[in-house]
This record gives sequence, structure tokens and C-alpha cells, in this order.
Amino acid sequence: MAETIHVNFGGFVPLSTVDWRGRSVCVVFFRGCPVKCWYCHNQAIQTGEDRRAVKEIEDLIRSSSLLISGVIFSGGEATMQPSALLALARYSKSIGLLTGLHTNGVYPDVIRELIQQQLIDHIALDIKAEWNLYTVRGKERAVGKQVKDSLTLCTDAFHAGTLRSFEVVTTLFPGYGEEVMTISQDVAPDIDLVLQQGVYTGIKPLDMNELKKIADKLEKKVRIRTRSDGEITYEGNRNSGDAGIR
Ligand code: SF4
Repeated sequence: MAETIHVNFGGFVPLSTVDWRGRSVCVVFFRGCPVKCWYCHNQAIQTGEDRRAVKEIEDLIRSSSLLISGVIFSGGEATMQPSALLALARYSKSIGLLTGLHTNGVYPDVIRELIQQQLIDHIALDIKAEWNLYTVRGKERAVGKQVKDSLTLCTDAFHAGTLRSFEVVTTLFPGYGEEVMTISQDVAPDIDLVLQQGVYTGIKPLDMNELKKIADKLEKKVRIRTRSDGEITYEGNRNSGDAGIR
């Protein structure tokens, strides 16, 4: 008899319109993450255990399937649990849903496997710091190389047509704007770079104008995502004094 695969489960949102641009999706949250960002919006599921059979999560996905066109695997870090992630992606594809992954890119081998097995349609790679500063907190283990490998393999797959949709997301707080300059240089011109407004209790978030000023220094088209104004495409001051927004 086949061994039952379990997932360390973090939660389920049956219907979301903000986790995959232009799509209605359900979101499966995987519990556990090696990075442990201080500003994490999902700190409650960074650690702990809630083991469920994958079949239980498949039933949740199926119960949403009439309302959605895709599934997002998020967390926590879904690629920390490769067996469960691959099984759920395979199930989702089998019932005709598109699949997406929000990832910190620390496990490039799992991302490669998803792409090679044609189990993933969309990846949002969250890059948090310059490569040489990138560590797993508590262990001080540098993981910049792994994240860079993930960026390279996703970019290559996007260009080869084996990954339908790919974006790089970086979360910005006051005083952290410089890191995005370095990150931006490593993101190919045809890959969407998303500047995401960081939100954390006690810290005044950067507003749209402040984010646009950071974007102006990058001299490339970006997407800017804020809680109050949603997401826009911003072309900045490159061609004229007028910001190009759609
Ligand atoms: S990588 Fe994402 S899930 Fe992990 S701690 Fe950072 S923000 Fe939270």
C-alpha cells in the first residue's frame, strides 16, 4: 500500500483575488520557514506542527474548485516540504487548476523539480536582501547562492516557456530602499520586479510616492504593490516627467 504523505499545515484560504494577479485562487499555507524575517506577516506559522494527510488538503482544494482557476502554495515556505508540495501540485493539475508558488527560493532543487515535472505555472520569488547578506537566521548560514540559483533557474524556465509566469518580489521598509538597487541588477529586463510595501506594527510604511522615488532610481519598469492602492505598473521618470501608470 502506498505510504500516506503528510503536510505540516499552516492554513487554507478558499478564495483569494490578491494572491495571483488577475486570477481567483485558493491558497494553501505550509507551516515552517527557515528564514524567519522579523517583519513576517505569517509569524504564527513560521514554526510548530499540524500534520494532516495530503488527502485532507486535496479535499479542501476540490471544495473551492468551482470558484477558482488556480491554487497558490504559500507559507511559511512550501518548498521545505517537497513530497507534500509535489503531491498537491500534481493533484491540482489533475483537476484542471493552474498552480502557483510563493517562495523565498532557499530550496532551488524543489523548484527545479516542480518545473521539470510541469507541475507549476507561476512563481513569485521573494528576494529579501543582497546576496552576500542573505542568511538563515539563528544559524547564520548563508543562503544567497541558493536564492540566486532559484532566480537563474526560474528566469531560464520563463525564457524557455516551461514556466508560464514569473515575478520577483521585494518587500521594502523605510531605510531599506538601497538593497533593491542590487537585486534589480540581477533581474532580467523582461521579468516583472514587484516593489511591495512592507507593513509591520509600529513602523510607518513607505507610501506610494516614496516607493515611486525608489523605483525612479532603478530606471526600469516595475510593479508597485501597496495595501491602500493595490498594484500598479510604474515606468517612472525615464522617458518624460510624467509617470506612466496603468
Ligand atoms: S520568508 Fe516569508 S514566510 Fe518566511 S519568515 Fe520571511 S516573510 Fe515569513
